[in-house]
Amino acid sequence: MTVELVELVKVYGNKRVLDGVSEKIESGEFFVILGPSGEGKSTLLKIMAGIEKPDKGKIIVDGVDVTNRPPEKRNVAMVFQNYALYPNMTVRDNIAFPLKMKGEKKEEIREKVEKVAGLLGISEILDKKVTKISGGQQQRVAIARAIVRNPSYYLLDEPLSNLDARMRTVARGELKRIQKELRGTFIYVTHDQKEALSLADRVAVLHAGKFEQVSKPKELYDYP
Ligand code: ADP
Ligand code: ADP
Repeated sequence: MTVELVELVKVYGNKRVLDGVSEKIESGEFFVILGPSGEGKSTLLKIMAGIEKPDKGKIIVDGVDVTNRPPEKRNVAMVFQNYALYPNMTVRDNIAFPLKMKGEKKEEIREKVEKVAGLLGISEILDKKVTKISGGQQQRVAIARAIVRNPSYYLLDEPLSNLDARMRTVARGELKRIQKELRGTFIYVTHDQKEALSLADRVAVLHAGKFEQVSKPKELYDYP
C-alpha cells in the first residue's frame, strides 16, 4: 500500500519536533528514515501508527485519509527495538496472539503461525519460552508476530539495535529478503547511516523537523 505523509506537524511544549514532513512512500518500498537521536523519528512513526496525533497534516493510505483512525483500525504492524514480547509465553503463542485477539479459528491460526515461522527460520523453536531463546531469535519472533496479521504496511523502529554487530549484518540481509518476499511497504527508522544505505530503496534524512533530503542510497553516498 502507498503511505502518503502530508505536511505533518507535531509540537511538544514549545518544540516543533515535526515541522511539515511530506512524502509519498510507494507500495512495496523499503523506505528508511535516517537521523540522530532526538530528531523526531519515533514521533513520526507513532503518528503513522496512530499512537500519537499530529497537530497538523494528514496520513493517506492507499488514497484513504486514516489520520483520525486508532491503531487497531489501520492494519499496521510495528516492530520496536525492545521487541515487547510476552515473556511467559512460548514463541508460538507470542506469534499467535494478534490472531487470537482477532478471534480467528484455531486451525487457521496454527497454519498461519507455521507458515510465517518457516519464512523466518524459527520453526524449530516454536514451543520454547521466549526467555530461553537468543536475542537474534527474539528479534525474528517480533517480526513474525508483525507479519502474521498480513498488515498493509510495516513500521520498524531501530529493530536491530539490540543485536551485536555480527548478528545485525545477518539480520539486515534477512529483513531485506523478507520484505521482498512479502512485497511489503516497510518504513524503517535508524540513526545508523550504514544500515540505512544497505537496506533502503530510498533514504529520507530527518533534520530540524523536515525531510532535508530524500534519495536513493547511491545518490546519498555520492553526496559531497
Ligand atoms: P528520535 O526518535 O529521533 O530519537 P523522538 O521522536 O523520540 O526522536 O523525540 C523527538 C523529540 O521530541 C525529543 O526532544 C523528545 O524528547 C521529544 N518528545 C518525544 N515524545 C515526547 C512527549 N510525549 N512529550 C514531550 N516531548 C516528547
Ligand atoms: P526513543 O528515542 O527510543 O523513542 P525515548 O526514551 O526518547 O525513546 O522515549 C521513550 C518514551 O518517552 C516515548 O514514548 C516518548 O514519546 C516519551 N518521551 C520522550 N521524551 C519525552 C519528554 N521530554 N516528555 C515526555 N515524554 C517523552
